[in-house]
Amino acid sequence: MAKLGFEREERIQFTQADAGLSTLAIRAGQTRTSEGEHSDAIFPTSSFVYSSAREAAARFSGDEEGNIYSRFTNPTVNAFEKRMAALEGAERAVATSSGMAAILSIGLSLLQQGDHVVCSQSVFGSTISLFEKYLVRAGITTSFVDPKDLNAWEAAIQPNTRLLFLETPSNPLGELTDVRAVADIAHKNDAMLAVDNCFLTPVFQQPLKLGADLVIHSATKYLDGQGRCVGGVVVGSDALMEEVFGFIRTGGACMSPFNAWVFHKGLETLKIRLEAHAKNALELATWLQQQPGIEKVYYTGLESHAQHTLAIKQQTGFGGVLSFEVAGGQEAAWRFIDSTKMVSITGNLGDVKSTITHPSTTTHGRMTDEAKADAGIKKNLIRLSVGLEDIKDIQADMQLGLDAL
Ligand SMILES: *Cc1c(COP(=O)(O)O)cnc(C)c1O
Repeated sequence: MAKLGFEREERIQFTQADAGLSTLAIRAGQTRTSEGEHSDAIFPTSSFVYSSAREAAARFSGDEEGNIYSRFTNPTVNAFEKRMAALEGAERAVATSSGMAAILSIGLSLLQQGDHVVCSQSVFGSTISLFEKYLVRAGITTSFVDPKDLNAWEAAIQPNTRLLFLETPSNPLGELTDVRAVADIAHKNDAMLAVDNCFLTPVFQQPLKLGADLVIHSATKYLDGQGRCVGGVVVGSDALMEEVFGFIRTGGACMSPFNAWVFHKGLETLKIRLEAHAKNALELATWLQQQPGIEKVYYTGLESHAQHTLAIKQQTGFGGVLSFEVAGGQEAAWRFIDSTKMVSITGNLGDVKSTITHPSTTTHGRMTDEAKADAGIKKNLIRLSVGLEDIKDIQADMQLGLDAL
């Protein structure tokens, strides 16, 4: 890309060593063409041209760096990757077509037939299916453990265990796993630890600093923040990312330039959004806890949360998702949800719009009753992804639900 006249921006590296998180989210991975545009350009092109046959040959042979085809590299996707790597404090990031593609890429590029995975049982539903139903076909087996129980992680390790996988806080109950302790278990056994950092984002938790080897995101959630695109990303060391990149460029689960542009711009407001989400969530959780008709509130920012101390130890904030149990069963929970007027009834989260969900019959609906009971997903449980509307309006909407109990 032509950079004539814009050298001044190359004087700063934009890593965590020389800039704060808000600066990185706004400045790292910035691109600029010779047009001098202030906002990043978007490159919606499938392929790239060369000035000569010789140049084409040099690009294809790898003698010369440069773009060839957007399944391999694309400037807009690269810009998003650079920004994500800076935010997570990683050497490199690889963008993927979805959060699930990010997890799939780890499984198929860093593991092989005969390998074993230990996975938290409290991870995103599709993550469980991916390991249990699909990666097993490639000869990769998985054991699921209670993520809070360090002895269970240790006990599940086999001689062929290569990957430990967890999500903290978990959805929808906000269960935490001690990342540092599980990283130590992984490394003692020659395995890697991957953390799904979707709920807190690098603003509130940076798992690589806690010893994890890989971090994955569903960019669909807070990284976009406005519910527009599906995408994902994996971050880690150059060596691990080279393998992941090799799989993505060959397997084709790449991110589209348009989505990368949306995520790249979304990151510019990540810190200020997350702080505002967390402020609204804490205020609402505190209020809900005092309301008649509410039996229990799950939010890691509450002192009543069983793992509040661990939250303070490994997080710098508590995020925007909470859940609560209402008096009564499924009927009461549905009545509560149906009586609200503003919050959106949808399974998605991490949006500026508040969203309300009944996990037992939607996001966790495919689990058996026994599995739900084990995981603590009760029929009277409601999940709220607290958005950025005025807190008094979100609270008024919850009051409508409470009045209907
Ligand atoms: C949504 C989600 C995923 C999957 O991401 P997609 O972008 O939908 O593929 C993975 N992990 C968590 C925690 C999620 O919330």
